[in-house]
Amino acid sequence: MFFRNILPMDIKQWFANYSHSPFVVAGPCSAESEGQVMATATALSAMPEVRLLRAGVWKPRTRPGGFEGRGEDALVWLHRAMQATGLPTLVEVATPTHVELCLKHEVSAVWVGARTVVNPFMVQQLADALCGTDVPVFVKNPVTPDLKLWIGAFERFQKAGLSCLAGIHRGFQHFAQQPYRNYPMWELAMELTRIAGLRVITDVSHICGRRDLLAAVAQKAIDLATDGLMIEVHPSPDDALSDAQQQITPGQLRALLTNLKWRTKSSVDDGTLVGLRAEIDDVDAEVLRLLARRMELSRHIGQLKKQNDMAAFQPDRWKKVLAEHVATAHTLGLDDTIVTEVFEAIHKASVEEQTKIMGD
Ligand code: PEP
Ligand code: MN
Repeated sequence: MFFRNILPMDIKQWFANYSHSPFVVAGPCSAESEGQVMATATALSAMPEVRLLRAGVWKPRTRPGGFEGRGEDALVWLHRAMQATGLPTLVEVATPTHVELCLKHEVSAVWVGARTVVNPFMVQQLADALCGTDVPVFVKNPVTPDLKLWIGAFERFQKAGLSCLAGIHRGFQHFAQQPYRNYPMWELAMELTRIAGLRVITDVSHICGRRDLLAAVAQKAIDLATDGLMIEVHPSPDDALSDAQQQITPGQLRALLTNLKWRTKSSVDDGTLVGLRAEIDDVDAEVLRLLARRMELSRHIGQLKKQNDMAAFQPDRWKKVLAEHVATAHTLGLDDTIVTEVFEAIHKASVEEQTKIMGD
C-alpha cells in the first residue's frame, strides 16, 4: 500500500539526532469522540513543545468488557484533527490489521504497546506489516524489565528496513511499585540509549499512574537526559474512559511544561551517574517506606505487650531475629557487621517506641 509520509522535517531531524529542543508527545489515553480529539488537538497545537498527538484507538484491557477503543472511527477523527491543527498523529498498533488501517488513514507514526512488545511473534508481524513504509515506530518497554526483549523488538523493525525508531520508557512491573503505577528503573532506559544508540522518550503518565507525581517525574526524566516526554492529556480527565487518574487538562500540561527545566544533552554526562543516582533515590525512598511500616507494626505489638503485661524488650526473640537476619544477609552477599549495626539501630528505636506506649 502506498504510504504518504507527511511527517514534518523537525520530527525527522529529531529521529536523526539533529535536534535537541524539547520534544513532547501528548494526547488522550484513548480517542473517545471527535469533539474530544479535536478539542485536545487544538489546545495542544498551541504548545510548541508538543510535536505529536497521541491517542489510543484500540485499547489493550486487562479484562474484557471495559472500554476497548473506538477503532477505525477514531482514525477518521485523528486525520481531521491533524488537518485542522497540523499536529502529526501517533497511534498504538498491536496487529497487522491495525497497521493496515493506520496506513489507510495516514496516521503519521505508530507505537507498540508494552503488552505487545513482550511477544516476539506479534512484534515480527508488525515489522512485516510495516516493511516497505518509512513510518516512524516508537517501541514501549515490555512490561517486565527485560532489556534484551526491548532491544530485540528494535532489531526486528530495523531488519524490516524501518529507520525512524525510538523507545518509550513507561516503567516496569516490579515488586516495589509504590508510589508508581509502573516502577521506572531509570537505568534500563539509559542502557537502551547507550547500547542501541536510540532516542528514548519517557511516558511519565504510565510510570506515575497519578497526576500529583507527574511534574517531579518529568523533571527527573529530563535530568537523566531522556530525549522527550509522553504525557496523557484529556479535556476533562475525570470523565476519561481509560486512565482517568493519570490524565491532565491541556492547561495543566501548559503549567507543567512551563515549570520544567529543559537541559541540552551536552550539559549532563551520558546518563550513567545520574541514572544510578536516581535508582538509589528510589531505593532509599522504598527503604524509608518499609521502615515506617515496620514502626507501625511495632506500635501495634507495643499495645499488645501492654495489654498482656509483657516487657518491651524480649531478649530471646531479638537474638533469634538478629541471627536470622545475619544468615539472610549472607545469602545476599551483605556484610554481617553492617547488617547487625543497621538492625540494632532499628530494634533500639522500636523498643524505645514500645516503652513509650507502655508508659502511656
Ligand atoms: C497507553 O499508552 O495508553 C498504553 C496502553 O500504554 P502501555 O502500553 O504503556 O500500557
Ligand atoms: Mn493510558
